[in-house]
Amino acid sequence: MKSYSGIYQDGHSPAGQPVTIQVQATGLALTFASRDGHVLGTPGLVFWEASRIKPNAYREGHKTVLRYGDTPVQSLEVVSPDFAEVIKNAFPEAVFHRNAQPLPKHRASGLYFLLALFLAGLALCYFFLLPAMADLLSRQIPLDTEIALGEKIYSQLVEKEKIDSARTQHAQGFLQQLSIRSRYPLQMTVVQDKTVNAFALPGGHMVIYTGLLDQLRTPEELAALLGHESAHVQERHTLRSMARQLSTYVLLSLLLNDVVGLSAVLLENADQLTALHYSRSLEQAADTQGFLLLKANHLDPKGMQRLFTRLNQAAPYEGPTMLRSHPLTEERLEHVQAMIQQNPYPVRPASFQLHQTWKALQKKN
Ligand SMILES: [Zn+2]
Repeated sequence: MKSYSGIYQDGHSPAGQPVTIQVQATGLALTFASRDGHVLGTPGLVFWEASRIKPNAYREGHKTVLRYGDTPVQSLEVVSPDFAEVIKNAFPEAVFHRNAQPLPKHRASGLYFLLALFLAGLALCYFFLLPAMADLLSRQIPLDTEIALGEKIYSQLVEKEKIDSARTQHAQGFLQQLSIRSRYPLQMTVVQDKTVNAFALPGGHMVIYTGLLDQLRTPEELAALLGHESAHVQERHTLRSMARQLSTYVLLSLLLNDVVGLSAVLLENADQLTALHYSRSLEQAADTQGFLLLKANHLDPKGMQRLFTRLNQAAPYEGPTMLRSHPLTEERLEHVQAMIQQNPYPVRPASFQLHQTWKALQKKN
């Protein structure tokens, strides 16, 4: 008697088991087999009586799916060109082959659709809801709390740094000569470090590394940089970005039920501020403010382009940190160029006093 191979599901475990099937007089005898056809266990251990095979069989092409029993319902899938015909002849009285219908086509698509919907919802949360919530939360933080937070982060950061106090003083003098309107107490710090970087903390601290300061050639370039960084302070970009970054951790920690990990991340976060990534829109907004600062001071707006050029030329191997934390995209360069073209204004050379401060600031100790 001819035997067939098929996949048997016992209704308990989702994985199917290979079986060989023998069509006998009153039903189907199933023998468990290994993938290469060797008999496992007792031959004919499972026996399906033909009269009890469920009437709702499926057939499509060479594939036949039969079901058997209640609680749980077992199933058997056989792919063979003649199996359907053979069992029809063997059990002419049975109803299942008369009722056989094509396999339901899109049984899984509903599930996939739900899964896709769920993933889309998750992505929506991650990319829109979460940042929006973080923005909303950071807006609720009172100004003095933000300033106090900034002070804490600042003292934690500069503990490990070597501060150039003479150049810090000149940088502060330079800043004060620019007309920057800010609700924050803007405070410059020059750190002796070869890294090409500058960053702003929440609440008013702006830190510039000598690695970047020494790359600059004109006071306009520094003014553009300070305009850019002070905009990050003024518009609470750092606080907002921190909240965004943290909100991802908060969500992940909640999902993973990992409170220990969350607190570790919170403590580590201060260090990451030196390389905090701002979004494209925040960078562009800061560039706009940098440009407007140059305009308000009648300083040459090309200083901003030169600043970008310097940054692009600096540190050819790894790329300066400044570029990584304030990614310098083609888009940003074009944006600055467009602002310069669309907002012509009378340019004056930097004042004598600003020049003097600039010269003093250039001196290395
Ligand atoms: Zn920036």
